[in-house]
Amino acid sequence: MEKHHKFSIWYVLLGFWLVLLFQHMLITAMSIKTIPYSEFLRLLNENKIIEVAIGPNQIQGRMRTSDDSSQRGVLFRTVRVDPEISKLLATHNVTFKGEIESTFMRDLLSWIVPVFMFVGIWYFAMRRIQNQQPGFMTLGKNKARIYEEGETGITFDDVAGVDEAKQELTEIVDFLKTPEKYSAIGGRIPKGILLVGPPGTGKTLLAKAVAGESGVPFFSMSGSEFVEMFVGMGAARVRDLFNQAKQKAPCIIFIDELDALGKARGIGPVAGHDEREQTLNQLLVEMDGFDPSVGVILMAATNRPEILDPALLRPGRFDRQVLVDRPDKIGREAILKVHLRKIKTAPDVDPAEIAGMTSGMSGADLANLVNEAALLAVRHGKSEVSMAEIQEAVERVIAGLEKKNRLINPEEKKIVAYHEIGHALVAMSLPGTDPVQKITIVPRGVAALGYTMQVPTEDRFLMKRSELLNKIATLLGGRAAEKIVFEDVSTGAHNDLSRATDIARSMVVQYGMSEKVGQVYFGGKQNAPMLGINDEISKPFSPATAEVIDKEIQKILAEQFERAVEILNSKRRVLEEAATILLEKETIEGDELKKLLERQQG
Ligand code: ADP
Ligand code: MG
Ligand code: ZN
Repeated sequence: MEKHHKFSIWYVLLGFWLVLLFQHMLITAMSIKTIPYSEFLRLLNENKIIEVAIGPNQIQGRMRTSDDSSQRGVLFRTVRVDPEISKLLATHNVTFKGEIESTFMRDLLSWIVPVFMFVGIWYFAMRRIQNQQPGFMTLGKNKARIYEEGETGITFDDVAGVDEAKQELTEIVDFLKTPEKYSAIGGRIPKGILLVGPPGTGKTLLAKAVAGESGVPFFSMSGSEFVEMFVGMGAARVRDLFNQAKQKAPCIIFIDELDALGKARGIGPVAGHDEREQTLNQLLVEMDGFDPSVGVILMAATNRPEILDPALLRPGRFDRQVLVDRPDKIGREAILKVHLRKIKTAPDVDPAEIAGMTSGMSGADLANLVNEAALLAVRHGKSEVSMAEIQEAVERVIAGLEKKNRLINPEEKKIVAYHEIGHALVAMSLPGTDPVQKITIVPRGVAALGYTMQVPTEDRFLMKRSELLNKIATLLGGRAAEKIVFEDVSTGAHNDLSRATDIARSMVVQYGMSEKVGQVYFGGKQNAPMLGINDEISKPFSPATAEVIDKEIQKILAEQFERAVEILNSKRRVLEEAATILLEKETIEGDELKKLLERQQG
């Protein structure tokens, strides 16, 4: 479009010139003869003028000439001269002619100047609007930053501490490098990969690394860039992006901050934000429409997966989700190594030691920390960064993060560690619970300060009463550990309590698993979130029964809590040992905990 502005000025000039040329050619083609006024008067006296048309300045007409064969007369033109002077001049036999002052320059200026002014004003106005409102003039044209092959310059070596995510993405890189290998077998590569994780953990970096590793073009665009001023523009932009990508396949399309675009439809302050909905719909259409075997892979990143439209997460769309989590101590050490490589460091700088001081920090925080230390070294007039600067930088960054409420203090950390080990030990001690895979106290999200990852070994359709009870005991294990160790409990368990209570309630009112209440079904919890109702619409039982139900639920919970306390008391030593390790390393694998447990028992 910008090119076009400049051209349009030349078009105007060209047009103008053509008009002049045409006029000139017309005159010559008609072969009008221009004669002096005195000649005209002479011809008039000789009766050679056939007819005239008299204008204010000119006289045109036809005259007879000797060499005129057609007898129709020759066209002529002459410029009038003041009659008084012409009489006088005629008597003195002077040849004279009239002259019209040339108005060419005046005409030209009176035309060209306003045209230029209009074009100029329009051009600048457009430029301004465009600056304020990117995309106003580009109308659906794509703004995706396209990095050509390997141009991102980032490889997996630049990303550290997120080994699981890296491992998952290695397969994608392999596919992009040799798509034939996969299509030969008929294997289907996932269409869409969604990187999920808190801000600053390296999601954007990972996507670039995939492009860098596989050496394919990389189309990068942020979700908010799709949301346009005009309805329909965002959709056009999505279409354009996919078309461009298909031409460049194999390649990667990366939509950063997908949540800006992919918010669930129909929620949000403005009911039915048309533009965003249309854009999202178009994205869904494009995702369904392309065949991954052409080698286009769609990647996206978000730190708020919970607000994404569920349609985006359906199979065939973002069917693979890769968790990019805050790093644990080992991860932080690896990330620090990546960033310390870029600066000059004194021999006393020890990544492991820094990792120990930076619990809870994300990759971006660590990158910031290293940079901060380098700046401090410069300020202190040093030629390399030593541990003193690192120490100071850590304090600065921590102060900043504490303001944002993103770090937990050591006391809290200790509580979280015992709490999580509590869950894990109870789970390991009871049959029928899902195996513990990993325990971590790296804070994630707002609510969870740590978690115990239990992965079901098989799909379950039926649960026995004993299994449900074990599950409740596991959920209460966290709080039980707090009670044993600190003789106090914290608020950190409210999610556990709510889940345990839900199970206990279901046992009583839905599964008929309580002796007092008996084999009845009082279910019918009706959810109608649209109406704001999220509870039993009507209770199909009497108040007396309600009391029994409540008592039964309380009894189940109390019994299971006691059970959890008993289990943990009997494994107090492992509890202490494991919590210490967890505090130190921030994550502990299920297998490691199992070994500790077996050692105590054996
Ligand atoms: P996100 O997209 O998850 O919010 P970014 O990828 O934009 O985070 O990370 C911002 C910066 O932080 C990166 O450019 C990099 O310097 C640093 N960083 C974040 N995570 C890592 C990591 N895992 N390894 C190395 N550097 C990281
Ligand atoms: Mg990002
Ligand atoms: Zn818990």
